[in-house]
Amino acid sequence: MARYIGSVCRLCRRENLKLFLKGDRCYSDKCAFDRRGYPPGQHGQRRRGKLSDYGIQLREKQKVKRIYGLDENQFRLFFKRAERQKGITGTNLLVALECRLDNVVYRLGFTNSRTQGRHFVRHKHFLVNGKAVNIPSYQVKVGDVIELRDKSRNIQAMTDALESVVRRGIPQWLEVEKENMKGIVKSLPVREDLTMPMQEQLIVELYSK
Ligand code: SF4
Repeated sequence: MARYIGSVCRLCRRENLKLFLKGDRCYSDKCAFDRRGYPPGQHGQRRRGKLSDYGIQLREKQKVKRIYGLDENQFRLFFKRAERQKGITGTNLLVALECRLDNVVYRLGFTNSRTQGRHFVRHKHFLVNGKAVNIPSYQVKVGDVIELRDKSRNIQAMTDALESVVRRGIPQWLEVEKENMKGIVKSLPVREDLTMPMQEQLIVELYSK
């Protein structure tokens, strides 16, 4: 399935939630969701009927997929892996999504969004344990050290992102050394570390049909 290339602000309006897909703009008064917090499209302001159970589950899946910027195939692959693991499938899914390298560089504050994180990972700007990794879905492990390559250290977008990360904070399972442009995975995230409102059980129910 092709990647969505339309306006990402429409996605927030569709999901009725700020998904923080546009970096600094999401915190400014230009945020489209803050300005027009109703669904996009010609009939967006019409009163909608109650969603069916299927509709609720579908919206939840779409929301999580959009937060992490994945297409349906990629998302389903993560779900299948989560199902095969021990433990609670929904939690496994969210933890695996959170451990993607493109998400981790965003969480560490090197980028302003996961999309930007994916872009910089693909262009080999990051080293993981001293080796260049250009796979956005790479799963980080406890003890992994993620750092910017020497030649990438003066990219303005990353320096700016590091300056503004205080606004959203660094999760406690990660540690950042700003001066060395380096981050460390102290532990794997647990469910409580994920603060966006996500009801993973609904996704499990949807895919179990
Ligand atoms: Fe969503 Fe607002 Fe950010 Fe646009 S600016 S992506 S509407 S949070």
